[in-house]
Amino acid sequence: MKSDHEKTIVPASVSDADMAAGLLMLVSEMTWALSLDGQRILFLNPVAETVLGIQNTELELQSDSWLASIHPDDRLALQQNLLEIAELRQFSRELRITRTTDLEVWVKATFQLILDAEGRPSFVGVTAKDVAKRIDAERQLEESQAIYHSLVESMPINVFRKDRDGRIVFANQRYCNELNMSLSQLVGKTDYDLFPEMAHKYVKDDAWVLQTGLAFHDIESHPAGHEDLSYVEVLKAPVCDASGRRIGIQGMFWDVTARKKAEQALRQAKELAESASRAKTDFLANVSHEIRTPMNGIIGITELLLTSIREKEHREYLELIQSSGESLLTLINDILDFSKIEAGKLQLESKRFSLRDSLGDTLRSIAVRAHAKQLELIVNFAADVPDEIVGDLARLRQVIVNLVSNAIKFTDRGEVEVDVSTLKLRDGHARLMFTVTDTGIGIPADKLKLIFVEFEQVDSSTTRQYGGTGLGLAIASKLVTLMGGELKVDSVVGGGSRFTFEMDVHFAETFFEQPLEGLRGQSVLMVVRNAKQRVVLNNIFSRAFVRTHQAIATADAMETLERLVKQQTPAAAVVCDAELDQDSGTELIRSMRQVPSLAYTPVIMLTRAVSHQTVNNREQLGIDDMLIKPVKEKDLLTSLALALGLLNDITTAQGSAYGRIEPSLEPLVVLLAEDNRVNQKLVVGLLEKQGHRITVAHNGRQAVEMYPQNAFDLVLMDVQMPEMDGYQATHEIRQLQTRLGVRVPIIALTAHASADDRKRCLAAGMDEYLSKPIRAQDLFVLIEKLTGHRSALSGPGASADTHQNCVDWEHAFDTVGGDRPLLQELIAVFLKDQSKMETSIERAIQRNDEKELRLSAHSLKGALTHLGGREPARIAGELELLAKNEDLAAAKELLPKLKSSLENVSREMKQFLAKRA
Ligand code: ADP
Repeated sequence: MKSDHEKTIVPASVSDADMAAGLLMLVSEMTWALSLDGQRILFLNPVAETVLGIQNTELELQSDSWLASIHPDDRLALQQNLLEIAELRQFSRELRITRTTDLEVWVKATFQLILDAEGRPSFVGVTAKDVAKRIDAERQLEESQAIYHSLVESMPINVFRKDRDGRIVFANQRYCNELNMSLSQLVGKTDYDLFPEMAHKYVKDDAWVLQTGLAFHDIESHPAGHEDLSYVEVLKAPVCDASGRRIGIQGMFWDVTARKKAEQALRQAKELAESASRAKTDFLANVSHEIRTPMNGIIGITELLLTSIREKEHREYLELIQSSGESLLTLINDILDFSKIEAGKLQLESKRFSLRDSLGDTLRSIAVRAHAKQLELIVNFAADVPDEIVGDLARLRQVIVNLVSNAIKFTDRGEVEVDVSTLKLRDGHARLMFTVTDTGIGIPADKLKLIFVEFEQVDSSTTRQYGGTGLGLAIASKLVTLMGGELKVDSVVGGGSRFTFEMDVHFAETFFEQPLEGLRGQSVLMVVRNAKQRVVLNNIFSRAFVRTHQAIATADAMETLERLVKQQTPAAAVVCDAELDQDSGTELIRSMRQVPSLAYTPVIMLTRAVSHQTVNNREQLGIDDMLIKPVKEKDLLTSLALALGLLNDITTAQGSAYGRIEPSLEPLVVLLAEDNRVNQKLVVGLLEKQGHRITVAHNGRQAVEMYPQNAFDLVLMDVQMPEMDGYQATHEIRQLQTRLGVRVPIIALTAHASADDRKRCLAAGMDEYLSKPIRAQDLFVLIEKLTGHRSALSGPGASADTHQNCVDWEHAFDTVGGDRPLLQELIAVFLKDQSKMETSIERAIQRNDEKELRLSAHSLKGALTHLGGREPARIAGELELLAKNEDLAAAKELLPKLKSSLENVSREMKQFLAKRA
């Protein structure tokens, strides 16, 4: 057997032709030889055998021309070339060899005329190589280029490509049309050739794209024509070659002029609308401000008239004018508030205050209205609500008062509940949730959104049953938004409404007041009918670690009390609602007092109003304390501690060392600088009644001129005046005084009412500040403070006939449910205690004892609030707050104001008592 190796050895006797044929067998390219006419194959190597499907051994049997296996589309041209081979000698063609219908091979074939030794044509030699892959790739490229072109040409945008040097290499037809150039004209051009003005920017942008490899996006404005600016939106991105090298950039841009113009128009329209709205709110603010000035005249002059007119009927008319004036002023203040908020001019204050105490006081004053309609007002603070928070109390109060007043106004039966809870509590921040729920008439679903819009009411007919302006909720909702929340409502017609809002607050570190330590572990029986009320009391007691038992009527209360006695764990005290179901709370106490083991158990009674009857009962039945609902946590716990003998009565403290300034009654010489005639008359009228001598200057300049002509004791200076304003006049008068070596007090009179205005007045050298409308009372208090002159209205010398109106008698009568003898009794008690309380406050201030000041001011405030002593109650409240803020210097300053206002109130109260006789 011969080996394969041996087979390839060519014997020496082999002819040249055979050797050549043998060598061709080794060539990997297709090779074959054709007859000179090109029709028959004379020889072919194995690769060609495979592709053409013809074997060397079968060549003799060939009947058809080999050309039959060439694709018909390529065949004719090949035949033509083969016919010309004698002249051509050589040619190349790309052909498809299609041996069978499903096999097609792309080849590139070279045909060469081969000559014999004598130079005669011998045969045609063919070499061919498979170019299928390349052809395929080329075809794909062509296809993708076609797609790219159709895309680029059909898009309604301009497309271009540039090389690294910024020369255009391609632009779509749209772009060419845009530039009015053909592609061939455009290719090779740069931005400097095409857009000399913009070229610098374009080249810079292109460089950025090439450098970063990132896409670039911009809206460019193009100067087109003189007035018009046209805008295009541009996107540019790098073009990379196969190896990822950035070889240029491609970009597209499209016209956005219409969009930009629409945006501009929209912006202009918005600015216009905003400025119109600003003008409206400014107008509102200015108008309401201006209305305050004449209101000053109306209210002030009425007040002045009331001091001199005695006829009952005329007095009633005047009082009507006064109360209408006051409500008009409230409305104007509402509008002012509203427009201030609208104009973004309202700033919230951040002050520390006690939430439970302040809101508790506020709600108790509104409770009178609820109780008058036999509604229960329940106030519930969750145990984890911080006591002391930092925020704007006045604004929070405004929102709550509005919601609760509405709830009472729109509810005829049932209850109104105020609930305060904590949603989040962390690192000195708390999110509180306030809820005001009523069982009233409800609000139809389609009006729920509307009621927050200014001047909108559910019932806007002229015959509507409920009063109001429709501003309250609009203001409340805006205030809540300012405080970081949203005022929401849900409601069922006939089923009541629920208003909620959340608010973020900071809380002081001592956010929980320490409950009175001695109360820990004491046990109390609560006898309360209303389930929610029981929850409220339970919350309060649990914070002080007081154990509670609960009962809802006399029978089960007695049962529980007796059982506890038997178990030798008697209740330390009973907290009893006066408004129990069938029997009033007094029945229970009566029963208790008949059982020896319960005869001396302390009882605290919670009541809507103190009536003559209850006061009698109090003495007879040994009720330790009576608290008006909604009861405040601190009052309840203090009262319990007092009843259990754990605290001494703070108001029993004796002794006073506070030096009094003896008042002078010498008339004063006063310079009044005021341009408004009504105000001039009012102030002159008020002061002349006191025997003072007044000189009037009509503007600041006159005031400065008049000042050295007289030895004035006091200057009253309007701030806004023509020619020279009050600040400038004060400045000049102060300079004069420095030269003369005197200093006369100057009081600013202004319609502005903000803290900033006060600061500005003081900075200008004025001593005090009085905001309009001017109240006689305030003016006299200030005069007394600065000059020591006690006015007849504010001093002990006031005539008994003078109508002073210092006590809110309506409120006082409300407190006692209209029971006059009871009120007289309560007032007698108050008058007896009053000097003790006053002394206690003076002493606390003198000793710098904040705690005592706080407690004494607080209890004075409580007593006065119920009896209608609004002004001194307010001052006492201020003192309490100052004590909390440890500002005893300011408290000291406030003291004379409190004393004089207390004197007015007590004098009026004494007159009231005198009428009894
Ligand atoms: P006002 O009470 O002065 O009319 P508000 O802005 O406070 O203005 O309230 C707007 C309207 O919303 C009221 O007129 C009333 O129709 C409706 N409303 C507000 N609170 C309640 C409530 N608790 N129950 C039923 N309706 C209410």
